[in-house]
Amino acid sequence: MRHHVNRVALIGTGFVGSSYAFAMLNQGVTEEFVMIDLNKEKSEGDAMDLNHGLPFAPSATKIWFGDYSDCKDADLVVICAGANQKPGETRLDLVQKNSAIFKGIVEEVMASGFDGIFLVATNPVDILTYATWKFSGLPKERVIGSGTILDTARFRYLLGEYFKVDPRNVHAYIIGEHGDTELPVWSHADIAGRPISDWAKNKADFKQEDLDELFVNVRDAAYHIIQRKGATFYGIAMGLVRVTKAILGNENSVLTVSAHLDNIYGQEDVFIGVPAVVNRNGIREVVEIGLDANEQEKFNHSASVLKNIISSISILPK
Ligand code: NAD
Repeated sequence: MRHHVNRVALIGTGFVGSSYAFAMLNQGVTEEFVMIDLNKEKSEGDAMDLNHGLPFAPSATKIWFGDYSDCKDADLVVICAGANQKPGETRLDLVQKNSAIFKGIVEEVMASGFDGIFLVATNPVDILTYATWKFSGLPKERVIGSGTILDTARFRYLLGEYFKVDPRNVHAYIIGEHGDTELPVWSHADIAGRPISDWAKNKADFKQEDLDELFVNVRDAAYHIIQRKGATFYGIAMGLVRVTKAILGNENSVLTVSAHLDNIYGQEDVFIGVPAVVNRNGIREVVEIGLDANEQEKFNHSASVLKNIISSISILPK
C-alpha cells in the first residue's frame, strides 16, 4: 500500500497557477506538487525553476511537470486553466468557451481514477465550479470554488487600513458572485468583536461615503489592477493556498468560498460565495449568517444572475 503523502495537482500554470505554485512551495504545504498545462514548455520551465528554490524552502516538496494520469493519487486538483476574455468577446461567449475547456479537463482528471477534491479558480468561477461539479459527478462538498475569498481579503485589508487595525483582526465578508453583483455583509462586520458602526462613531473624520467607496474599490479591484498590470495573481494565489491548507490540514476553517447551496440563504442549486467550514472532506457546512432585508435582496439578485448563466450552458449534463 502506498504510504499516504499529500499530492496537489495544478492544472493551468499561467499567471495565477504559477503564483500559486510559488506560494505553495514557500509555505511548505504539500509533499507532492504536479503541474499540468497545454503549454508544455512553460510548465516544464516552471517546474525546473521552482525545484531550484527547494534548498531555501521550509520543507521538502517533490515538484514535476506531469500529465492527467498523475491526478489519480492527488488529494486535491486545483484548476487555474482557461481562456481569458478577448476584445469584442462577451462574457457569455467566455462562459461557453471555458465550459468546453472544463469539460475536457474534468473528464481527463476523472478518467485517471481521481477521487479527491476540486478547487476551481478560473473565471467566471462560480459558474465553472458548478460545471466542474456536473462534469465530475463528485459529491457537491468535494467541489469548491475560490468564490469571494479574494474579495473578502480585499475588504478586510481596506477596512484595516481605514480603521488602522491589522486586517487579520477584521471579521467581515463579501458574499455572492465573484463579480459585479457581489455584496458586503455590513450587518455582521466587526473588528475584534466590536461592530464597524461603533468604530465609525469613534473615528473623528468618519464619513459614510468612505465606506461606500471602500466597497466599490473592493468590487472593482480586479479592473483597477488589470488596467495597470494586465492580470491579477498574487492575491488569489495566496487565497488558494489558504484554502489548500484548510483542506490538507483538516482545519475546519471558515472561508468565503463558492459552495453549493441547497435550501440555505433562500437558494438552491447554485454555487456562490458564502462563508463555509472547510476541512479534509471539502465543505463540511455552509455557515448561514442572518442577512438583513437589503442584503438578502442583493444576494438573491446575485444568485439569479448566476442561475441564468448556468441555464444558458448547453453542454452541461442535466
Ligand atoms: P493565463 O492565460 O496566464 O493562464 C491560463 C493557463 O491555462 C495557460 O497557461 C494555458 O496554457 C492554460 N490552459 C488553457 N487551456 C488549457 C487546457 N485545456 N488544459 C490545460 N491548460 C490549459 O491566465 P491567468 O491570468 O493565470 O488566469 C487564469 C484564470 O484565473 C482566468 O480565468 C482568470 O480570470 C482567473 N482568475 C481568478 C481569480 C479569482 O479570484 N477566482 C483571480 C484572478 C484570476
